[in-house]
Amino acid sequence: MWPFKRKSKQKKRPTRLRIFAWACVIAGVAAAIQLFMPLEDIYRGGRNYLRARPADGRVVVVAIDDRSIRELGTLNYSRINDVAMVENLLKSGANRIYYDKAFADKVDQAGDDAFAASINRHTGHVFLGTTVASNSITGLNEITAPTEPFAHVAQLRSLTGRVAPFSLAAELDYATDINGKQVVGIAADIARQNAESGSHFRPDWSIRVKSVPTISYIDVVNGRFDHKQVAGRDIIVGKTTVLSADWLQVAGQNWFPAVYTHAIGAQTLRAGRPADIGALPALFAAVLLAAMFLRAQTRRRAGLAVVAAILFGLTIPFVLDVYLVTADFLPAYLLFGIVAVRATAHRHLLEASRRNAGTLMPNLSALREEPLAALRPVIALRIRNYAAIGASFADPVEDELVSEIARRLNVPGHATTYYQAEDVLYWLAPELNANDLRGHVEGLARLIESHFVIRDRKVDVQMAFGIDMDISRPVANRIGRALLAADNAASNQELVKFNTSVNDEDSAWELSLMSELDAAIDNGDIWIAYQPQFNLTDDLISGAEALVRWQHPTRGAISPEAFILPAEAHNRISRLTFHVLEEATRAARKLIADNPTFRLSVNVSANLLQQEHLPFKISQVLARTGFPAGNLTLEVTESAPFKEHNLVKKNLSGIAAIGIDLSIDDYGTGNATLEYLRSVPCQEIKIDRRFVIGLVENASDMMLVESTIVLAHGLGRRVIAEGIEDPETLSLLRAIGCDIAQGYYLAKPMQLEALSNLLANEAKVRAA
Ligand code: C2E
Ligand code: MG
Ligand code: MG
Repeated sequence: MWPFKRKSKQKKRPTRLRIFAWACVIAGVAAAIQLFMPLEDIYRGGRNYLRARPADGRVVVVAIDDRSIRELGTLNYSRINDVAMVENLLKSGANRIYYDKAFADKVDQAGDDAFAASINRHTGHVFLGTTVASNSITGLNEITAPTEPFAHVAQLRSLTGRVAPFSLAAELDYATDINGKQVVGIAADIARQNAESGSHFRPDWSIRVKSVPTISYIDVVNGRFDHKQVAGRDIIVGKTTVLSADWLQVAGQNWFPAVYTHAIGAQTLRAGRPADIGALPALFAAVLLAAMFLRAQTRRRAGLAVVAAILFGLTIPFVLDVYLVTADFLPAYLLFGIVAVRATAHRHLLEASRRNAGTLMPNLSALREEPLAALRPVIALRIRNYAAIGASFADPVEDELVSEIARRLNVPGHATTYYQAEDVLYWLAPELNANDLRGHVEGLARLIESHFVIRDRKVDVQMAFGIDMDISRPVANRIGRALLAADNAASNQELVKFNTSVNDEDSAWELSLMSELDAAIDNGDIWIAYQPQFNLTDDLISGAEALVRWQHPTRGAISPEAFILPAEAHNRISRLTFHVLEEATRAARKLIADNPTFRLSVNVSANLLQQEHLPFKISQVLARTGFPAGNLTLEVTESAPFKEHNLVKKNLSGIAAIGIDLSIDDYGTGNATLEYLRSVPCQEIKIDRRFVIGLVENASDMMLVESTIVLAHGLGRRVIAEGIEDPETLSLLRAIGCDIAQGYYLAKPMQLEALSNLLANEAKVRAA
């Protein structure tokens, strides 16, 4: 995994916008087609139920109830009874009497005539009903109106209303157009509201039907009622008997006789004219709240938007109900609901994408978005033997391993967030100077190392730390640099390394280094210099070391140290090494023809020794180039894997078996012990130039080199010294028995042709 890829941050916004747009479209369509009409009625019914209140009693219902019918003996009783009722009511001071009845039929002539005369007598006090309804079969409007003898004396009031689907709500006309005439509705008339044909209103169904004062018709006919109950009141007369078909139901109230609709409608209109504002205002509010929710940067703000939405959503409908404003809310709820649910899910998804599934620790995306990362040093901890530990257990323990390391790193009192990318942990270090940071990291390393137990087994955790302190760089870049430093530490067998390269150009260069190196191999920018090595017994050239050179088209010559370490850290060293081996052996083969004892030394990275089938691959190269294995020396820097690793041992003995010599390069700089020197199957020890350069002045260097030579000779190895820059050093080395010498004083690394000329000259001198 290469951590430099910056995941697009831009993705968040379009997704949120899409959620918002979809919610608006869906809610808008739902509102336009009144998808929620029945639900809306149920919701309103629920609110009415909670707000339930009694009728004000200013309208009294005279109920043609079951008892009246029983006592009268028939539903078709004589209208003589109505005459008695009207007289009794008006005598008691009743205001106006409305019939929720059309008198569209005849009963007995005498009774009908008497009632017609009574109506006529009380013009302005007695009103008969009329209504129009469309026939459900023919679709034609059918008018129900008083017949003769009532028709020519009756003052008419409209009974027309409509019932919502599923009988969830009922509305009344202010006035109805009947036979081309505008007939005012009972409720509008009682409340003295201006009425317009065709317009209708929704009675306030929070008024309980049961609380409307009701007197039995038969009691009024017989004068058995409390006169005070009707004095100054408007009366509506209608059937409440179960024999009547005229019952209805609204959400929140049980079945009731339709006559009460007018009573409740009248009280409603007395309080004012109900308004219907539809779904748009609530939708608009929901759009605003949803936008607030989506724009919220923090969980707290988002929570606040939700709380506001719930508060508004719950209170506003009640407030509007009180002010007789009918509004639809469900599309608005739907809009906010969609946004809240979808955006929250999206938010969770985003959060999950910033975590590792196994350890639940935040990942690199989270680190890249951490604002503090721009201010603090970034530390990378690579668990070097992560794969090896994982492989040594039957079950997956990697997550446990990482979590345990993070737990140990978390010193109490210093809550630190650890970010995980597989075998690497990152975190932001305290703002310390480089020295203190090193100490800090060494302290942490000790915490991890000791007594590490996983599933009852002791585990040896090997780690390497990398630190990037250059806060001027972009965070993503610094994460990579910290990792690069950790990899350098790992390949140098060190605990900590800092990434110290200085400018951005360098950093960009580092990033492209590996691909540039590949390209350089392909297009011939990589070439090989040969530095002669001299046999100190006869001062003749015994061989040469092949040293890789990179001539970059714009950057000029690049030092091997600048690209070999990164290549090793990123496992790209193999190709380079084999390229050099192939080129050098192909070129040097010509030299061998004239100088059969000439030895070619080629550098091999120590970590290449862990490659499968290395001896076979090398022998294949030699077969291709025709270079004799006996004339080849491989220089390997002394390092830890030499001793323990089975594969390394196998490779070393394989190389020896082909007849290739092994040289321990940079001898003295690593951690070689006597035991090491004895066990590694090499033919040559190459003393590092750091010891050679100070040889003349430094007595301890002198002692070290001398004893090494004695020791090596004792074990049957030859000794070569590199870095000889002056004649004094050369003669000293000769005096203490060094076998071979290499250095600028003798010869600098050169082109093959120059080396070839040198060898030819030597041959001439010898011949002369
Ligand atoms: P090394 O193997 O120790 O190579 C010897 C280095 O010492 C060379 O540096 C050489 O130019 C330098 N040198 C020779 N004589 C003197 C002297 O008198 N004084 C001083 N100060 N230096 C002297 P160079 O060519 O820069 O290479 C550096 C290192 O890069 C090599 O150290 C070796 O570890 C690595 N390297 C070079 N070529 C290859 C290669 O083809 N493959 C691999 N894996 N590593 C290579
Ligand atoms: Mg070397
Ligand atoms: Mg060396």
